[in-house]
Amino acid sequence: MEYFLSEEQKTLKSLARRIAEERILPVRAELDEKEAFPWEIIRDLANADMFRVFIPVEYEGLGGGCLDLCLVVEELSRVCSGVAVSYAASALGGFALLEYGSEEQKKKYLPDIAAGKKLTAFALTESTAGSDASAIKTTAEKVSGGYLLNGTKQFVTNGGEAELYTVIALTDKEKGARGASAFIVEKDTPGFTFGKKEKKMGIRASSTRELVFKNCLIPEGNLIGKEGLGFIMTMRILDRSRPGIAAQAVGLAQGALEAAVEYAKQRIQFGHPIFAQPVVQNMLADMAIQVEAARALTYATARMIDSGVRHFTEESAMVKVFASDVAMKVTTDAVQIFGGAGYMKDYPVEKMMRDAKITQIYEGTNQVLRSAIAFELRKRKATRE
Ligand SMILES: Cc1cc2nc3c(=O)[nH]c(=O)nc-3n(C[C@H](O)[C@H](O)[C@H](O)COP(=O)(O)OP(=O)(O)OC[C@H]3O[C@@H](n4cnc5c(N)ncnc54)[C@H](O)[C@@H]3O)c2cc1C
Repeated sequence: MEYFLSEEQKTLKSLARRIAEERILPVRAELDEKEAFPWEIIRDLANADMFRVFIPVEYEGLGGGCLDLCLVVEELSRVCSGVAVSYAASALGGFALLEYGSEEQKKKYLPDIAAGKKLTAFALTESTAGSDASAIKTTAEKVSGGYLLNGTKQFVTNGGEAELYTVIALTDKEKGARGASAFIVEKDTPGFTFGKKEKKMGIRASSTRELVFKNCLIPEGNLIGKEGLGFIMTMRILDRSRPGIAAQAVGLAQGALEAAVEYAKQRIQFGHPIFAQPVVQNMLADMAIQVEAARALTYATARMIDSGVRHFTEESAMVKVFASDVAMKVTTDAVQIFGGAGYMKDYPVEKMMRDAKITQIYEGTNQVLRSAIAFELRKRKATRE
């Protein structure tokens, strides 16, 4: 499919592909096996200006939009989704500053994020607040000299590795979600430590960790935007970042499709390549159709966001749900086409299938997002232009 990418976007996509094939491919199985954070590759991505993509030019970025970020994430994920999410989570962690930060905060933090010197993370989830994010209990009490943070965040991508954390905490416990605020917290702040590092099914190169705040005093200037707007900001930030999860899913599915096609061409059974079997051909054709449809929806949604429209909650939920379901189906079918070999770690498809599962869970589970889409449908008038 021709997506009419600009010359800059084509260059960006092919650079990301080259890094993925030259630097990630040789080590992806080892990173997965050892659950090793890909610091060397993060440095390669920084040297190739990949962290500048999502930062505005005035803060030493390249001024790219949602589509540019999706192109990079897709290409990295085609080879290793664990590396891709470590990169993408740094964009997610920076979105609050980008969208709602003061000029002073932007000047202070964004150039280092753009240079890839500081990774970021986004911390919302807690043990009692997952899908129901409004149930968070972490507090940020206003005291003389700033805010005192207390509480524990869980499942934070880039936890322990990032230098900068966007943390959502309650500045007014009585008001619940309407009393939540967003803060930027630096790694070495006294009272901020790291808890359990999760051992995961997939995306094992990425770090997923608990953040523990015990009387952690942060300066008043680290409040992002205004008190009480943290939850609304979070919803807007996730709307903006969900196409990135879709891009991760598209990359994963593309990688699995390519591996399955190659295997089907060379695996001989009953005297012929299994590709000759109509059942296998049908599976591969369906996989290709689904990957292309997911890519088309991802690029269209990203372009819509880049056009500056104000409301894209529904579209962003739709693309995340659709592409992640495609990734799960296509990677599962890829394992099936490999037969017994697909179940073994000698081939990449078992990793891709494990990696795909998370795309249906994080940044809003697909059930919760389907409910959100249905909610919008109920509100909508009978016809739509
Ligand atoms: C690897 C990984 C990385 C993550 N990274 C981050 C991160 O960087 N930052 C961060 O803040 N969080 C992160 N998360 C958290 C993630 O966003 C949550 O796990 C996710 O939102 C689901 O919450 P939960 O796990 O508490 O599941 P629960 O909310 O307990 O859901 C359990 C089940 O109930 C269903 N369910 C719950 N409520 C409803 C409902 N209203 N309607 C229909 N079904 C419902 C869910 O769909 C799910 O199937 C990460 C999680 C993982 C696993």
